[in-house]
Amino acid sequence: MKFYLEELPYSYDALQPFMDKETVEIHYSKHHKAYVDNLNKLVENLNFNYSLEELLKNLENLPKEIVTGVKNNGGGHYNHTLFWKILTPEKQEISKEFLNEINKTFGSFENFKNQFEEAGKKHFGSGWVWLIKTNEGLKIVTTPNQDTPFNLGKPILAVDVWEHAYYLKYQNRRADYLSNIWNIINWQYVEKLYKE
Ligand code: MN
Repeated sequence: MKFYLEELPYSYDALQPFMDKETVEIHYSKHHKAYVDNLNKLVENLNFNYSLEELLKNLENLPKEIVTGVKNNGGGHYNHTLFWKILTPEKQEISKEFLNEINKTFGSFENFKNQFEEAGKKHFGSGWVWLIKTNEGLKIVTTPNQDTPFNLGKPILAVDVWEHAYYLKYQNRRADYLSNIWNIINWQYVEKLYKE
């Protein structure tokens, strides 16, 4: 086995009331686990020393017949591993230093949150909304399915907008899911990724 499902850094019910226990349990132990299992099956006969990120950045070097599968399942594993670390049950304030960076790009923290939520709401179908670090500064982007945004910049904040991420609690109300997500963002971790 080349890839592992990392332990969830909190209990299934820790993100309540903003993300319910059943959603976190199914999302992590069924959806995320399936991406890891499928990915391991796809690459079981390959010899490589790539990290997951390197693997996803070098899909063209893989046998043609597994490229799509690795992109989807490897992306699913990468995105969810990041997502769980970006969430926390401990209410966190954003640091002054990182807030200044946000304000420089988006004018204010409120503007940033509005633009991020808007991007997530407008994204059609399954996908992710991201805050990425680029040479030109911070940007909000979305990707379809389990695509990663490596070609656009370094991901530092990721929010899953697949229905499986919110449907049990919020049903069709993706906007409510997104406006509640700010209560459980691990700003310390986001800032760490920004500084790396
Ligand atoms: Mn998901």
